[in-house]
Amino acid sequence: MPTAIEIFKHLPKKNCGKCNYPTCLAFAMQLANSKAKLEDCPFVSEEGKAALAASSAPPIRLVRFGSGQRAIEMGDETEIYRHEKKFFHPTAFAVAVSDQLPKDEVRGRVEAIRSVRFERVGQTLGFDSIAVKDDSGDPSKFASAVEEAASACDLPLVLVSSSPERMKVAASKVAARRPLLYGADQRNLAEMASVARTLGCPMALTGAKDLNEMADLAAKAKATGLEDLVLDLGSKSLKDQLEGCSKVRKLSVKKLFRGLGYPILVDAGKGEEAVLKGMLAVMKYGSLVIFDDISEAQALPLFVLRQNIYTDPQVPIQVKPGLYPVNGAKEGAPILFTTNFSLTYFTVLADIEKSKVPAWLLVVDSEGLSVMTAFSAGKLTPEIVVKALESSAAKERSGSEVLVMPGMVSRMSGKLQELSGMRVVVGPKESSGIPKFLKNLS
Ligand code: SF4
Repeated sequence: MPTAIEIFKHLPKKNCGKCNYPTCLAFAMQLANSKAKLEDCPFVSEEGKAALAASSAPPIRLVRFGSGQRAIEMGDETEIYRHEKKFFHPTAFAVAVSDQLPKDEVRGRVEAIRSVRFERVGQTLGFDSIAVKDDSGDPSKFASAVEEAASACDLPLVLVSSSPERMKVAASKVAARRPLLYGADQRNLAEMASVARTLGCPMALTGAKDLNEMADLAAKAKATGLEDLVLDLGSKSLKDQLEGCSKVRKLSVKKLFRGLGYPILVDAGKGEEAVLKGMLAVMKYGSLVIFDDISEAQALPLFVLRQNIYTDPQVPIQVKPGLYPVNGAKEGAPILFTTNFSLTYFTVLADIEKSKVPAWLLVVDSEGLSVMTAFSAGKLTPEIVVKALESSAAKERSGSEVLVMPGMVSRMSGKLQELSGMRVVVGPKESSGIPKFLKNLS
């Protein structure tokens, strides 16, 4: 993003206030902080708009493939380190399907990949894309496998082929799904770019021996009119991958070098090394990883790692405050309360479920903080708990007179009892103590 002074140079300097700011400089400062839009000034010249658009383009281009709600967005990242702000577009995971498989096996494999789903802290984790590989060298087999994969699931597709002719035949069948065409290199660039341009698909570049050659390849692709590019740096080892991806991110974000400012694809292969490549890609700047094969057991830690890296460090994952019945809670069952920090909620919920004792769980809005943090920050007070009881009509809905509080914040038990008018019972300090505690609660 250009600085306020750089933006100011392109503004009309009328100081007329029509943008709702008193001066052009004030408006430029708001633009530099992304708090205003250039369209708010009606007097910017076309040259000014073009100059500002070019300089304010994201350092890494946003590239989409797939269609509808499942479409995958890659790139548009602005940071080197997550703690500086956040990473925006989580690394997508694709699993490969060979066109040498019989049609029904293609369908079966795609359905199996699609069905891998894990629930964690209220989010569903799974694979994002299917990569169909042209292993047969037969145009009709490749096209048929691509069509079969497309009809078996709604996941975005990556079509992998080094042949522009076979790519054209297959991609034409699913162009409406906007697949990513992967396989353009120095030898086939013009023909592959022509296919991508004609069908309106993004294209992944591969086969460059170093970053200079990749920048050259990207420049040639861009010269054909293609903007939506993805880079496969062809890293042979984890060390190469780390170095290559880090250099591309730094050149793009710090030096604003647009020649390599595209999302990165990692073709991970299979086995333990593939899992490590996937993990490295999540941590260090990979936008799309293709696995030849990966088991559910190998995938789960990858999904969890991705979930952790791509949450906003300034915004904890939260659940909706309210009153929830657990284990078929009915009238008279005790109410336990906790905060709406997602990890806390799901831990407490699991422990109540484990007890098999019917109970109500009151989730108090603590702005996503855990129990002790919220208590220390004044976000979990007797007044706030009572407000949560009232706004969820907890007493009326549960018919309960017993309120169980986390043992960690027992200090507020007296005041809470006084304000709530309920029998307040101090629960265990650790959530793991809940099953035993509930079984003994009378
Ligand atoms: Fe300046 Fe345009 Fe705002 Fe007028 S509307 S003050 S010309 S930026």
